[in-house]
Amino acid sequence: MKFTSLPMPDEKGYFGEYGGQIILPELSSVMNEIAEAYLEISQTKPFNKELGDLYQHYVGRPSPIFYAKRLTAKMGGAKIFLKREDLNHTGAHKINHCLGEVLLAKHMGKTKVLAETGAGQHGVALATVCALLDIDCEIHMGEVDIKKEYPNVMKMKVLGCNLVSVSRGTKTLKDAVDSAFEEYLKDPVNYFYAIGSVVGPHPFPMMVRDFQKVVGEEARQQFLYIQGKLPDVVAACVGGGSNSIGLFTAFLDDESVRIVGVEPAGKGLDTDEHAATLTKGRKGSIHGYKCYNLQDDEGNPLPVYSIASGLDYPGVGPQHCMLKDLGRVEYTSIDDDACIDAFMALSRTEGIIPALESAHAVAYAMQEAKKMSRDESILINLSGRGDKDLDFVVSKLNL
Ligand SMILES: *Cc1c(COP(=O)(O)O)cnc(C)c1O
Repeated sequence: MKFTSLPMPDEKGYFGEYGGQIILPELSSVMNEIAEAYLEISQTKPFNKELGDLYQHYVGRPSPIFYAKRLTAKMGGAKIFLKREDLNHTGAHKINHCLGEVLLAKHMGKTKVLAETGAGQHGVALATVCALLDIDCEIHMGEVDIKKEYPNVMKMKVLGCNLVSVSRGTKTLKDAVDSAFEEYLKDPVNYFYAIGSVVGPHPFPMMVRDFQKVVGEEARQQFLYIQGKLPDVVAACVGGGSNSIGLFTAFLDDESVRIVGVEPAGKGLDTDEHAATLTKGRKGSIHGYKCYNLQDDEGNPLPVYSIASGLDYPGVGPQHCMLKDLGRVEYTSIDDDACIDAFMALSRTEGIIPALESAHAVAYAMQEAKKMSRDESILINLSGRGDKDLDFVVSKLNL
């Protein structure tokens, strides 16, 4: 089956049966305006030139591909390659879609960009781009998370965004989402809610995917140049699904390439403490769209868990749901222990400290490489750097 025609959702924003706009009609009209503006502007030269220039001169694209020779030797099988999104300005892939979204918001004449943040990664990337592009930025964050994630909180303060501390409910991400959304509803025509992954109502899953697909486009070309052939396996961690779909998109039509999404198995798939949405979830709706999700019998989102806060989400992008059903992408999972082992292994064999999110993909590559032959290869997306996770790992391992 050819997939080139598939990546566009239908007019109502459905990827197969997933996605859409499960929102109030008033909001639907605002989302449709965003979709229209995006589809128009993304065809124009000036927009693509501006975004392309920022990718190159601000983010530092293209990010390199690195052959992890010592990690490969340690595992004794397929060659392991890393797409180094950790080397981007701000240290992860999130800057790619934040730039696209804020450029669009400005083009549409919006006056304020709004978002929630959990660990602060999305908040920092967004505040960075809003400083650069000179637009008001308001980030909602739970009081508990503000205490836990102080380095990111300081960055957001220095970058000049309005950081709103959310003290209702559990004072964490879920309440930050509610609080930011309430603020957004006060003036959705003039405000822009910048969603941080390929989730939420149409057009965000399509738009964020398009802003991330540069990762896979670069990687495919770079890999062909370095190795003279395509990788046998391409893999990435899946939270909401943006860094993974960004890498996967360029390889969907390459039938010889196995594509694998790696979810967080947390403390085990048979416990309640994981966030393996595609592995264990059921079809339902969450945050304005239809997808697989982890929910209770009444359809409410379950509290999910991952050692990597960026993967800790009970839904997943609609295109991933479709790719799973079609069988084009396999979804598997890695637990906390394997993730920490991979975090240390990559640090000590290659001198690269990965984000705990990305370490899930590293762990998968380590397990899979052993089962493959030496002339085969695995390419993974190293979605971010691990500075933010150092405190946690050092205290956990008593280093
Ligand atoms: C946020 C984050 C993720 C998870 O988000 P996706 O949308 O699934 O890519 C993964 N890696 C890093 C480094 C992150 O900051």
